Amino acid sequence: MNSQNVEAGPYSADTHHQVDAHVLRQVRRSASATRTITRTMPTMDQQADAVVIGAGVIGSSITLELARRGLNVLCLDKLPAAGYGSTSSSSAVVRFTYSTESSVAMSWEGLHYWRDWANHVSVGPGSGIDHDALVEYSTVPMVMFHHSDEPEPPYLEHFKRLGIPHEVVSPGALPSWLESVDTRRFGPAARLDDADDPFWGEPDDSFDIAIVCADAGFVSDPQLAAQNLATAAMAAGASFAFKTKVVEINSDSSSNRITGLVVEDESGERRRIQTPVVVNAAGPHSSGVNAMAGAVEDMARTSRALRREVYIGPAPEGYDDQGAFMCGDLDIGVYYRPEKGDNILVSSTEPECDELEWVDPDDYDTVLSEDEFQLNMLRASRRFPNLAIPHSKRGLVSLYDASDDWTPIYDRSMIDGFYMACGSSGNQFKNAAIAGHIMAELITAVEGGHDHDAEALVITGRYTGMQIDMSTFSRLRPVDPDGANTVLG
Ligand SMILES: Cc1cc2nc3c(=O)[nH]c(=O)nc-3n(C[C@H](O)[C@H](O)[C@H](O)COP(=O)(O)OP(=O)(O)OC[C@H]3O[C@@H](n4cnc5c(N)ncnc54)[C@H](O)[C@@H]3O)c2cc1C
Repeated sequence: MNSQNVEAGPYSADTHHQVDAHVLRQVRRSASATRTITRTMPTMDQQADAVVIGAGVIGSSITLELARRGLNVLCLDKLPAAGYGSTSSSSAVVRFTYSTESSVAMSWEGLHYWRDWANHVSVGPGSGIDHDALVEYSTVPMVMFHHSDEPEPPYLEHFKRLGIPHEVVSPGALPSWLESVDTRRFGPAARLDDADDPFWGEPDDSFDIAIVCADAGFVSDPQLAAQNLATAAMAAGASFAFKTKVVEINSDSSSNRITGLVVEDESGERRRIQTPVVVNAAGPHSSGVNAMAGAVEDMARTSRALRREVYIGPAPEGYDDQGAFMCGDLDIGVYYRPEKGDNILVSSTEPECDELEWVDPDDYDTVLSEDEFQLNMLRASRRFPNLAIPHSKRGLVSLYDASDDWTPIYDRSMIDGFYMACGSSGNQFKNAAIAGHIMAELITAVEGGHDHDAEALVITGRYTGMQIDMSTFSRLRPVDPDGANTVLG
């Protein structure tokens, strides 16, 4: 695929990037052309330039960016408020350790939105819409353990090329807050009953390198982040309809163009919405929504709902304001970060020994497993010898929308006007704001006539000027044999 550069205009809360008037006219013309096409049981027709399915952190962000480009956008969600879906369970870790250069660039650009959050979601004086509260970004160093006898992780090459700040430290130079940690190599990650790789094996060598990103961190409240974006979108003129489920997506087969959709409210009443543009941001339900649109035939990459658990326990001694760090600890099979209330948050990195639980997103076990809680806390205790394992389990159960290569799909589809922001694979919360921007750039470019499948867009980040090559997120991409194959993406 070739690439084409698209320069994003300079951005501030007061001068939002405006879409080309020609593109806006084009979208509106398509909208009026669809107005004559109706099919199923409408009670009342509504019209929009674009409809976003899903008011999670990704859908709310896309809605904001489209509204700021002057489109009449409607965002629909079957739940009662923004961010009530899988977003609400996010660990909200912000880090830059991805296997592809575009993903590293995107996550670094994404950090700058969190740092500039108040400005990004500014609703402006006199808008009549206020934020009750804004999310906060807490900086906590991200550490990746490494050994000099292993090949360099791919993200290190990307860090060097892109200039992402990082430090490569060896044992003699380890920061004091890493000294209480057991840096031995326990891997590969094992289960308690594993006969081949005994869980309690005592390794005789240690990692001799730690790669540290001091700018990493996490966001205080992922659900509130989605609500901040939704509030900003409303201030920019977007509409939201909650408790409203999309049950049908219509297109005109002769023109291969989206014409609208049918929604059902809580009482079971259905109505039709006419629109030439539909964006699938339905999180773990996204593959069902793609199927509903009939847009799956040409997809080389797909996604499915994966059941995930996140565990909370009391922080080990020293894992505090001075001593806490975050880690994607593939060696023991968990990631961890500090959690408010002097706790540690622990979750799996999908080691090979663990079976993945692919589920129906409308019917899965929402009770935390006692055994998995114990196993994953014990895994963390290998790194933190003074971690106390609580007797009673605490945590949550949620779903990833996991793609088959753990990389999201931010793309158009085989149907004109139907777009996908899905397959977020447990690693796209950090990118929500920049995902909104690249999707809005994509939609306006494609609706303006650009052939993205033939010539993938390259979007320039507003804050960092970094190039994000969207072919990385194409539904048509081949599998990268050097990809992460874990939640690290
Ligand atoms: C346990 C967990 C931990 C994670 N940790 C991290 C992390 O540390 N860092 C990171 O960057 N990312 C992380 N992620 C990933 C990140 O949280 C997700 O990528 C992101 O929140 C997904 O947002 P979304 O808007 O795509 O989906 P969702 O928040 O799930 O939103 C989709 C919405 O679509 C709605 N919907 C679905 N179908 C329909 C329909 N037919 N009609 C109307 N509405 C519909 C749903 O109700 C839902 O509200 C984590 C995810 C999970 C689950």
